[in-house]
Amino acid sequence: MNIDTIKNGYVIDHITAGNAIKIYKLLNLGNLDCTVALITNVKSKKTKRKDLLKIGKLIDIDLDKIAYIDPQVTINVVKDDKIIEKKYVKLPEKLINVCVCNNPRCITSIERGLDQVFQLVNTEKKSYRCEYCESILEHDKFVI
Ligand SMILES: [Zn+2]
Repeated sequence: MNIDTIKNGYVIDHITAGNAIKIYKLLNLGNLDCTVALITNVKSKKTKRKDLLKIGKLIDIDLDKIAYIDPQVTINVVKDDKIIEKKYVKLPEKLINVCVCNNPRCITSIERGLDQVFQLVNTEKKSYRCEYCESILEHDKFVI
C-alpha cells in the first residue's frame, strides 16, 4: 500500500497529534471496506507534530464529528488523484447524535431512540450542554 497517494477520497490534514485515532473511532472508519491510513506524529512546521488520516473512498463524512474532535483540521477532497476541494470546519453550535449524555437520569438515557442534542456553551473549553437535562459535557471528559 502506498500511503502517499489516494485516487479518490479524503486526506484529513493538520490534525492535532493524538486526535486522529479519536476521529477514526467516532467516524467508525474501521468498518469501511476501503483503505484507511492513520498516520501519527508527522513532523510539521505549523504545529510541530500532527496526525494525518487518509480515507480511500469518497464516503459521506460527518463534518460535525470531525469538527467536534478537532476544529483546526483541513479536509482535502481528492478525486482522480487531484485535490478538488479543501474543506475547513469550525466547532459546531449544535451537536446532533455526535456524543451521548452521561447523566443516567437524562431522558435520552431512559428512552432509546431519542436524538442526542447538545448546544455549544463554551467555545474555548469546547463544552456542550445537553438540550434535555442541561448537563454539561466537558470536552476533555469526552469518551468514545
Ligand atoms: Zn442529558
